[in-house]
Amino acid sequence: MQRNDQNKRGTNLRCIIIGAGMAGVLAAIRLKQRGNDNFVIYEKGDSIGGTWRENTYPGLSCDTPAHSYCYSFALNPDWSAYFAPGREIKAYFESVARRYGLYEHIVFGAEMASCTWSGNDWQVRTRDGRTDQGQVLVAATGVLHHPLIPELPGLRSFARPWFHSAHWDHSVPLDGKRIGVIGSGSTGVQLVSALARRASRLVHFQRSPQWIMPCPDITYTDEDKRRFGEDPARIQEVRDGPEAAARRARFTSAIIDVDSPELAEIQQIVEKNLEESIKDPLLRDKLRPTYRAACKRLVFSARFYDAVQQPAVYIEDTPIAGIEPTGVRMQNGEFHELDVLALATGFKVDQFTRPMKVYGQAGIDLDALWAARPRAYYAVTVPGFPNMCLLNGPTGPVGNFSLVDIAEHQWNYFDQLLDLLRDGECCGFAPTMAALEDYEARREIAAKRTVFASGCRSWYLDDRGIPQVWPWSWQHFVDVMSLPQLGDYDLVSPSTPSCGRSGQADHTGSIT
Ligand code: NAP
Repeated sequence: MQRNDQNKRGTNLRCIIIGAGMAGVLAAIRLKQRGNDNFVIYEKGDSIGGTWRENTYPGLSCDTPAHSYCYSFALNPDWSAYFAPGREIKAYFESVARRYGLYEHIVFGAEMASCTWSGNDWQVRTRDGRTDQGQVLVAATGVLHHPLIPELPGLRSFARPWFHSAHWDHSVPLDGKRIGVIGSGSTGVQLVSALARRASRLVHFQRSPQWIMPCPDITYTDEDKRRFGEDPARIQEVRDGPEAAARRARFTSAIIDVDSPELAEIQQIVEKNLEESIKDPLLRDKLRPTYRAACKRLVFSARFYDAVQQPAVYIEDTPIAGIEPTGVRMQNGEFHELDVLALATGFKVDQFTRPMKVYGQAGIDLDALWAARPRAYYAVTVPGFPNMCLLNGPTGPVGNFSLVDIAEHQWNYFDQLLDLLRDGECCGFAPTMAALEDYEARREIAAKRTVFASGCRSWYLDDRGIPQVWPWSWQHFVDVMSLPQLGDYDLVSPSTPSCGRSGQADHTGSIT
């Protein structure tokens, strides 16, 4: 499709964007860059940043190289480190939003309650009763934002401060305290690395150990930043240079083929890291996973193995029996008295747009379509939900990729579909159910062959144990996103009676 905005009939489409995190800000800027400033962003929080607003726990950083974790059109020479701290990433998104004049488009403190397709446009309502309407709905609602509070017996009886990693209580003192951290995913590893030298005792409750990928621990000097600023090609080198491209290709080859030499190489690296970094053989045994490297999301850390060998740190791998008012009881009867308990237990990952209600053509409820599990055609669009885009929706690429990069490709795909509206070729588009079924059937076959299905528990797996992921190469993702197949879409013709006029929809599906 050609990008020629001249002679377009409706370039200034009214767009409703939900969420002012990384993806919502991206969609807004991309619209503006096409001369489309008729949009509004509804944000439930009081500032932008999404996951980087919600997560503020000690040690929070992004384990994707910072120069890759930013928009392609807003490179940032000022990152303080190869893996930037969370607060810096939030500040980056805020500064980009400011630079592109987005603040005047954002309604803060506005949690979207419902979005209803009227037959012609999307009619939306916030929890506090505001209403709006637009031809286009962009659900940039994020993936990992509903904390998973585990069903641990007695958890709520704990009489001292406890909280989930995504709701960190910064009023609680940590220095010199007895701290418990439950969970050993990316979050738990970062928390333990940050707290090991601050706690008088730090008990890491580890249900499953993690393979740890060694990585550079690089901070950028003022001189480095100056050079990045003067020569953006240096930044491009980190993002897309031959080394970065080769790393990405190696990683995708590894995750999509359990028999690949690339996966064998990753396995070798993480095993060597464990053997060479951990001196005590008993501790080494505790930290050695029984599943294959990269089966769970691969954790990158330059500090974790040093942290767990600090005198204050104890790895507890006996199963938890329950939580008591002053600490955690293990199944072998041992008891750990604690001053603070942090839950790094992950997120409910099947939420996406939920709890917001979304009603599509003929009043179909997205919750009904997603009763078994969330599905979207190529992770972006949904049958029966015209002109609706999910950014970082179900089955998008996971693993150690930049979600910014992923969202940019997804937006590029959706933006080409928006051209159908801009050109007046249709007033609505949605993928056919047959296209979704075909995509899912092919995807599931491939997903079962990925390393994610090689025998471990992780948030990538759906209720059937099938990885809910993009199971093909990165290049295939880029290729698919580069050109929508219009044959897979139902188009609402501009000649249909409802096209071009607003309707009112109720939630039973009748359109008046
Ligand atoms: P996670 O990967 O889902 O890990 C949750 C941890 O909690 C696991 O170790 C799990 O054990 C444990 N757990 C859950 N329920 C438990 C229970 N009842 N008893 C004991 N242990 C329990 O969550 P996460 O670490 O928050 O990471 C989620 C995702 O967020 C990451 O995979 C990543 O995509 C993203 N993230 C990214 C970064 C980054 O630097 N880019 C940083 C943090 C998070 P099992 O393994 O045994 O299930």
